[in-house]
Amino acid sequence: MATMTLPLETQQKTATDKCRFCGSGSRRTFVDLGMSPLCETYPSSADLNRGEVYYPLHVYVCDQCLLVQLDEYESAENIFSDYAYFSSYSDSWLKHADNYCGKMTTRLGLTDRSFVVEVASNDGYLLQYFVQRNVPVLGIEPAANVAKVAVEKGVPTLVRFFGTQLSEELAAEGRCADLVLGNNVLAQVPDLNDFVEGLKTLLKPEGVLTLEFPHLLRLIEHNEFDTIYHEHFSYFSMLSTIRILNAHGLKVFDVEELTTHGGSLRVYACREESLTHPIQSSVGKVIADEEKAGLASADGYASFAQQVKQTKLALVEFLLTAAREGKSVAGYGAPGKSATLLHYCGIGKDLIEYTVDRSPYKQSRFLPGSHIPIYHPDRIQETKPDYVVILPWNLKDEIMNQLQFIRDWGGRFVVPIPRVAVY
Ligand SMILES: [Zn+2]
Repeated sequence: MATMTLPLETQQKTATDKCRFCGSGSRRTFVDLGMSPLCETYPSSADLNRGEVYYPLHVYVCDQCLLVQLDEYESAENIFSDYAYFSSYSDSWLKHADNYCGKMTTRLGLTDRSFVVEVASNDGYLLQYFVQRNVPVLGIEPAANVAKVAVEKGVPTLVRFFGTQLSEELAAEGRCADLVLGNNVLAQVPDLNDFVEGLKTLLKPEGVLTLEFPHLLRLIEHNEFDTIYHEHFSYFSMLSTIRILNAHGLKVFDVEELTTHGGSLRVYACREESLTHPIQSSVGKVIADEEKAGLASADGYASFAQQVKQTKLALVEFLLTAAREGKSVAGYGAPGKSATLLHYCGIGKDLIEYTVDRSPYKQSRFLPGSHIPIYHPDRIQETKPDYVVILPWNLKDEIMNQLQFIRDWGGRFVVPIPRVAVY
């Protein structure tokens, strides 16, 4: 496995002040979370004596198309070429992937003569379930160290960034797909228009595209501001997604609301000229929900920043009280989103002594910026903390189940989002 290092040549991008999708120069602040380091860069002990680069986390909403967006302060190549996130480490996420593959195989009648392409296929966590069902697949994954793991488990994977160039190459080789999917990748795409155009190019005439991404409506409703980080350039509503896909000749015909990542959408689309996929009522339902929440006009985005600030005050208050009472506090998990939460709230080792993570890659490293050390999960049993703060709150049920043993010494769980709660 390659070693992650802090970016030496930072190739900082100049903010363009232009909307990533429509090019409008008229954007207003959605929320300003201050400065934060790249959240998937986990320093080793040798890195601790070096400087760390911080970037603004200032999110805008476009007045014209209402796309919520963060500027690309650091190039995607620097962020993703040696990405530390290995999907396979969460049991519930694997189950989600298996279920999806079963469902799509039935719904689209996929066989050994079909072809499925996943963009940002990670370590093959999802495509392996199509391979098990004898459906031919191709993964596309820019991080070489992650793609290698996929190939080793029998998932053919191209180490490339995805866009029109690659999809035209594949189409020219006759490798268009019956199903193209992208899970949690759309947010990470700096050139949104090139990416979406590439997805369309890769579809067979009656092919289906599915995209999963965290739903902006839930992000606002559930106060999930820690899912805002530098690696996520865009935050999608149903309304903005439809606008973007339509602009590239794609038609949204179905949508499912999922509980993953704090509330996600799985959008189904096809070429606009396709007649085999009638538009389902689910699409209108989600649009109506968003209109009701005010997301159809720029003013509807205005109150989020205040709500975020209140969450910070409550969490910091809880941790300060715990510290004054002499309670010990550990974290669980080292997800990307912990960097945003901890930085915005100004929480360091003085308030959360250490955290643990199941990923061997992260163990013996440190959280970016705060330098809270990351250990093997056994550390919790060894040190018996009074409180365990669950940083990947979207997996709180699974984690509380795994860590029931902390009850033996009276330990309690703390979930920071949507507002601090003790279990
Ligand atoms: Zn725009």
